[in-house]
Amino acid sequence: MLDVSVGFLIILGITSNIFFKDKIYSLTQDLEKCKLKINDYEVESAIFSAIVEIMDIFGKDVSMEEILSHVNQSISNFFKKEVVIVQLFGEHFFQDIKGGSINLPEETFEEIATQAYPILINNLNSFPRYKFLETTGVSSFILVPLKNKKEETVGVIGVFSKNQRVFTQKDLSLLKLISVPISLIIENAELIEKTKVLSITDPLTHLYNRRHFQFYIEKITKQAREEKFHVSLAMCDIDNFKIYNDRNGHPAGDKLLRDIAEILHQNIKGSDIVARYGGEEFVIIFPNTHKDTAFYISDAIRNKIKDVEFPGEEFQPGGDLTISFGIACFPCDADTYEDLIRKADIALYEAKRQGRNRTIVFNGLK
Ligand code: GH3
Ligand code: MG
Ligand code: MG
Repeated sequence: MLDVSVGFLIILGITSNIFFKDKIYSLTQDLEKCKLKINDYEVESAIFSAIVEIMDIFGKDVSMEEILSHVNQSISNFFKKEVVIVQLFGEHFFQDIKGGSINLPEETFEEIATQAYPILINNLNSFPRYKFLETTGVSSFILVPLKNKKEETVGVIGVFSKNQRVFTQKDLSLLKLISVPISLIIENAELIEKTKVLSITDPLTHLYNRRHFQFYIEKITKQAREEKFHVSLAMCDIDNFKIYNDRNGHPAGDKLLRDIAEILHQNIKGSDIVARYGGEEFVIIFPNTHKDTAFYISDAIRNKIKDVEFPGEEFQPGGDLTISFGIACFPCDADTYEDLIRKADIALYEAKRQGRNRTIVFNGLK
């Protein structure tokens, strides 16, 4: 009887042991699954935060450099410790690099950055095309193109690591997911920038318009007052433009305005700016320049225009198309920007009065 009980107890012990082992095993598996799930949730929440953070800059009036830097910071926060490069192509060529110590020169990145499709490389050795990256310290990377609405590749995001087998398909999918709002932000920023440029550009000559001239002259004279430097202003006006229009037609007059604008633009440099002030009147602002120098530059432009043979100029008085300049200086002739404009205008009027095709500097003219 005792033997039976002992036997029973042993069998019970073994079965319960197996039962508990099974239970523990299945519990451990459940726990692992939970951990993976938690990890998934953490990743999802991190990606969600990254997207919210990225979108925070949407529609704000910031430069493209600031956008790239902001976007890069958010991606870097997500892919901790890896090197993140965000780059735009074309006229908005910018590059922003954050994190790590990989030595990835601009040209090297350019070569892989022209990819129009996402790439995941975990071992450079298996990809001869990217073997050249070895010298840079990169072992694995993921790359996703940034596309605009027309599906054109406008830039690229790359996450690079010194270590092999760092990235998973999931990382690539997440980077693809992040690239959608980034493309949107960049496209929107380009639109804002284009609108801004249009608002300060004269549509006929593509020079700055009067509005921007007003803004800039006010700003630069304020700075000149504080930092004590000269600002010269040259105003110029085409001589007898009415005759040119009447003899050659309005479209030819428009073409002449564009040609003159181009000559003015080609002959100024550095921080000088040229704008269309009105119909056939232009202005050049020379920051940090005394009127003697402004005279020298302006008179050289006047001579150049005199020398150019414009179509239809044979009908102009003297058979030549010419312009006149009036110059004044801040603070030597005027102590406000309004007065500076007025004094340059007085000098220009004097140039016309004296017979045109000349440059007159305001020197106490009334
Ligand atoms: P002055 O030597 O005294 O400056 O004589 P002007 O004939 O150049 O000056 P006026 O002010 O009498 O005539 C300017 C002409 O410029 C008249 C106007 O029709 C023309 N004009 C103004 N804006 C434009 C434009 O955008 N395109 C064309 N084609 N002509 C314009
Ligand atoms: Mg004129
Ligand atoms: Mg005029």
